Amino acid sequence: MKIGFIGTGTMGQPMLANLVKKGFTVVAHDAVAAALAGAVKVGATAAASGADVARQSELVITMLPSSSHVEAVYLGRGGVLEGIAGGRLCVDMSTIDPSVSRRVATALAAKKVRFLDAPVSGGVPRATDGTLAIMVGGDARDLEEARPALAAMGANVIHVGAVGSGEVAKLCNNLIAGVSAVAVSEAFRIAEGFGVDAKVLTDVISKSSGNTWVMEHMHPVPGLVARSASSQDYAPGFMTDLMAKDLGLAVNAARELRVPVVVAPAAQQVLRLASSHGLGRKDFTAIYTFLKPSDDNAPV
Ligand code: NAD
Repeated sequence: MKIGFIGTGTMGQPMLANLVKKGFTVVAHDAVAAALAGAVKVGATAAASGADVARQSELVITMLPSSSHVEAVYLGRGGVLEGIAGGRLCVDMSTIDPSVSRRVATALAAKKVRFLDAPVSGGVPRATDGTLAIMVGGDARDLEEARPALAAMGANVIHVGAVGSGEVAKLCNNLIAGVSAVAVSEAFRIAEGFGVDAKVLTDVISKSSGNTWVMEHMHPVPGLVARSASSQDYAPGFMTDLMAKDLGLAVNAARELRVPVVVAPAAQQVLRLASSHGLGRKDFTAIYTFLKPSDDNAPV
């Protein structure tokens, strides 16, 4: 099966590399030349636009930053809709607003093109290992058609429901992960203030009720988890700006549904502040460096 892959950035590139390793032929496009060159380096051929990718492939996969990018790549000038033949299947693996997934699906359906939303969890290490969690919204038969490609990138492919519901699952997950990162950072700053060793505290929490995926795999404190972004000077990983976007999507969804949310907006503002202080393109666990204590003489 010939796969078209659009968006070969931090996540797209290792995901594409796994498709190539599993024997798929991949044609790729990215708006940034260096990102496209990276895709070619791992075995893809380059295409000049989304339409060009769609023309040359049997299945189109997108991995883009946010809702506006996804709308532009599918429905904009030179986009997927322009080049794709009726009957083909598209899989958007970006994390975006579920209502945008539905809008794109409806626009594609007018040309008899099918669409799945299939956002992922696990970050760069699991994208590299091909063990992402993939949560899928859309028709079950379309998922079966896409499954061999998804299985090349992920270890757990879960059908959540209709188009958009993969994104709903992802927003709920990232609400918890984003809040956890703030909580873990705050807790470790307090422990440090008391002179408690961060490694010992990690051992304690890993066997206690405060244990979280974020601490185990993405520890905000450098030097405790070898593959964490914090141990690579907070190179992303998952950028602060992207996590702020995801918490924003969760907060917006809650607002529309009239669900009260208290901690998600607080965590979102920590990430936004960190971004406005220059950490937007660092890994989101860099909020630990942002949440450093004030001067000893600051009044309490
Ligand atoms: P990224 O910014 O590194 O990569 C996105 C790529 O899309 C970039 O290379 C960019 O040039 C390209 N792009 C943007 N607009 C384009 C256009 N119009 N045409 C072609 N290419 C275009 O982001 P990422 O970290 O790879 O994340 C991608 C998505 O996956 C986001 O929605 C993010 O929230 C989600 N996600 C990321 C992680 C992670 O750990 N990084 C984990 C899970 C989910």
